Amino acid sequence: SGKWARAAEIVRELEEKCATPLGRMRQVADAMAVEMHAGLASDGGSKLKMLISYVDNLPTGNESGLFYALDLGGTNFRVLRVQLGGKDGRVVKQESAEVSIPPHLMVGTSDDLFDFIAAALAKFVASEGDTFHQSVDRQRELGFTFSFPVKQSSIASGTLIKWTKGFKINGTAGEDVVAELTRAMERQNLDMRVTALVNDTIGTLAGGRYYDNDVVAAVILGTGTNAAYVERAQAIPKWHGLLPKSGDMVINMEWGNFRSSHLPITEYDQALDLESLNPGEQIFEKLISGMYLGDILRRVLLKLAEVAAFFGDTVPPKLKEQFILRTPVMSAMHHDTTSDLRVVGSKLKETFDIHNTSLKARRMVLKLCDIIAKRGARLAAAGIVGILKKQGRDTLQDGNNKQRTVIALDGGLFEHYTIFSKTLVVAIEELLGEEVASTVFIEHANDGSGIGAALLAASHSQYL
Ligand code: ADP
Ligand code: MG
Repeated sequence: SGKWARAAEIVRELEEKCATPLGRMRQVADAMAVEMHAGLASDGGSKLKMLISYVDNLPTGNESGLFYALDLGGTNFRVLRVQLGGKDGRVVKQESAEVSIPPHLMVGTSDDLFDFIAAALAKFVASEGDTFHQSVDRQRELGFTFSFPVKQSSIASGTLIKWTKGFKINGTAGEDVVAELTRAMERQNLDMRVTALVNDTIGTLAGGRYYDNDVVAAVILGTGTNAAYVERAQAIPKWHGLLPKSGDMVINMEWGNFRSSHLPITEYDQALDLESLNPGEQIFEKLISGMYLGDILRRVLLKLAEVAAFFGDTVPPKLKEQFILRTPVMSAMHHDTTSDLRVVGSKLKETFDIHNTSLKARRMVLKLCDIIAKRGARLAAAGIVGILKKQGRDTLQDGNNKQRTVIALDGGLFEHYTIFSKTLVVAIEELLGEEVASTVFIEHANDGSGIGAALLAASHSQYL
């Protein structure tokens, strides 16, 4: 009937607009490398901020003592304490707690948000048992993972450039986030000093390096997306400070804000962007990350309902609700292996109140999941290969064919959306070719960011 033909046409068009053949991925990888150069040349030189992290040494394994970490950057924040035992002891003991952020605090005032966080941290510190050791004359020290774009002025200070990922808080942009957290901790009578301010990518890179010496970059694929990597300080024209002894500087790319004419962008992406809290910004992130994939799918489903009466004569009202379809639900549908696609059916029912979908309709929904997720995964792969290009690791080095390159990946999307992560790994191989790909390893850095922040707090302790 006309309904199915119109629906098929919408799906076909989406597939065409979202296509990421090898040539397209190469263009994206090249554009990423070009933008990296531009962002390193000058502030404002590129959509890629290429922020200097002030981390010029990554963990060695010698770190020791009790350290805390606080990870803020998504829907949850985490607090963690770790007892580090040096080269031999390594991570002696670690404990963590996770607290979800009430939605109203994500769009409220800065003081309310930081008070909430400091209170949870104080409660966690109060639960520290005797198995953790802290000398009485020492202040507790904290690595603060704050995963929003920050312009750092030292390892333990920096001002927020802008909120992303659904946060919109008045007055914080331009403020030193360490000072804000410190004041909130004081209000809780919590005696603790922030000795390292990093974001989750830097934390993941540091945590990854602690366990594997060949980790040279980290990528987060969670609610948002970002990447960090080790750059030669001499290759950073905008760095006017002293050259660090190591010769290295870790760069926080803020790659979520990458954009390029080579990115495959559809009408759905454009509408999503326009209706977002940050129109025109974080375009790469809006194609790739967990905050948005489900909503792209919802928008296509809405179009199917409106133009092709896909779900009956009336448009199910819930299809119009922004973000009602979360990426984990999309992922559950995408991984449905039942013969009658009953997971797809039940998720459509639970999410949108859409009952009695036919197998044919469910198959189409599955196809949409596939198109949207695979585009995201292949674009993320292209971004990673762009970093490898910048580092000169996308080809085999003469006389150094033993070189290993490890990228630490983390984030709920990468961890749980199996089709997404598998597609990403395969696309990297496709881009690099078999021989080079055999030297490049994608490692899941399970919550490496927390431990990484604690390690950086240790290596920047006031008592060293
Ligand atoms: P954050 O990015 O908020 O710090 P995480 O790294 O844990 O936290 O990522 C959480 C995000 O991962 C969620 O917002 C969601 O988009 C995505 N996610 C979590 N579970 C799944 C899943 N099962 N399938 C797909 N995506 C998931
Ligand atoms: Mg996170």
